[in-house]
Amino acid sequence: MTTSDNISSCISEHEAQALSVGAAQAILRRWAQPVTTVERLALRSCLDRVLAEDVVSPIDVPAHDNAAMDGYAFAGAVLAETTAGTQGPGDATQLALDVAGRALAGHPFTGALAARQCVRIMTGAPMPAGCDTVVPQELVTRSGERIVFDARGLERGANRRRAGEDLARGCLALHAGRIMRASDIGLLASLGIAEVAVRRRLRVAFFSTGDELRSIGEPLDTGCVYDSNRYTLWAMLTRLNVEVLDLGVVRDDPAALVTAFRSAAQCADAVLSSGGVSVGEADFTRRTLETLGDVAFWQLAMRPGRPFAFGRVWPDGQQGRERDERAALYFGLPGNPVAVMATFYQIVRGALLSMSGADAPAPLQLAASATAPIKKRPGRTEYLRGIASREHDGSWRVTPTRSQSSGVLSSMSEANCFIILAHQQGDIVAGDSVDIMPFEGLI
Ligand code: AMP
Ligand code: MG
Repeated sequence: MTTSDNISSCISEHEAQALSVGAAQAILRRWAQPVTTVERLALRSCLDRVLAEDVVSPIDVPAHDNAAMDGYAFAGAVLAETTAGTQGPGDATQLALDVAGRALAGHPFTGALAARQCVRIMTGAPMPAGCDTVVPQELVTRSGERIVFDARGLERGANRRRAGEDLARGCLALHAGRIMRASDIGLLASLGIAEVAVRRRLRVAFFSTGDELRSIGEPLDTGCVYDSNRYTLWAMLTRLNVEVLDLGVVRDDPAALVTAFRSAAQCADAVLSSGGVSVGEADFTRRTLETLGDVAFWQLAMRPGRPFAFGRVWPDGQQGRERDERAALYFGLPGNPVAVMATFYQIVRGALLSMSGADAPAPLQLAASATAPIKKRPGRTEYLRGIASREHDGSWRVTPTRSQSSGVLSSMSEANCFIILAHQQGDIVAGDSVDIMPFEGLI
């Protein structure tokens, strides 16, 4: 970033009125630069962290060919001889082998086998030299040290796992940018890797604005509401595994806002606020931001969430290029509690993931049939709260929740998905297919 590269120059006057969600996301992608500091951590500290390096497998996993089932390992070439005689009388397909030893996981069989000999083998045990096939124990009749089984249907190489089948030495095991899940932690352990490089966690400061806000424990004076946004934001940010810095409630007062912005930008990579971004009397946020940084856009063509500010804030006392590089990105969310959640998931989350260095897939979307008509005005993207269920035939249906007011937070708890109605979409009639974004794995 440079001072001359002003964010607001990348959007036209017209778009600046109410930017489409797609255009806003594109601007955010440009401005959300990943944190560069990297730390090496032990595996068990890496869950949900962003991998900072490609991990290449130093070994074959599994290291040896091994048995996929409990049974008897033998040289599969003998199968061809046996099944070739299927036209013959009686038991021409029966194969008899002599048991020459045992192989257990961790206890390989190291002897040599003669023709028509086999080794009793348990799952995971290395295949003895010369053996490539395992007949499962339940297909075998054993008398003393001899087994007999029907060779039809058993192919050479059956029930054997190949060395390197999971991951071959030199193969890319995990990509840089991966947000590490349980399977990834186990995968690294299977490679014998004790620690990896991860990016430092993003620091995100947040505060609420509004003279009407009261904190839990305070009396609720007439006309006041408890500040729920700070709790919702705390929870949503915690799920993203960022470092959260709660700066409390800021009054609708320019001096208080200046102090909040300055201290937030000083300590955080990103600053989130809620409320005070609409064009009401008490909306100082925009004017304040214009003196402390710059503003990229101020209104989004989305519902809920039309008032939404994006810009950056300079840390105190920084000048020129250094100031730009250390600027914190600012996301001014609306005050209404549902609008906070909708804008967080649809706009902010992706930007914070990019800033964290994550190469995360977009949230899952499915097609569902609307059970009721939905009014929709073209020219803005709408995110309704929906209740989706799966039909017997595997298809999805979705019903909007009773309230779609951006102030009714209980509708978010009642819903299990967003219904996404695209920018140019008009009214929906019952039975139309709509896109839904399940909350599962997101919220
Ligand atoms: P604003 O965007 O500041 O005009 O706020 C819009 C609506 O959201 C108002 O009804 C506010 O009382 C409400 N609101 C703003 N901030 C919060 C908050 N932190 N917790 C709960 N409601 C809020
Ligand atoms: Mg307000």
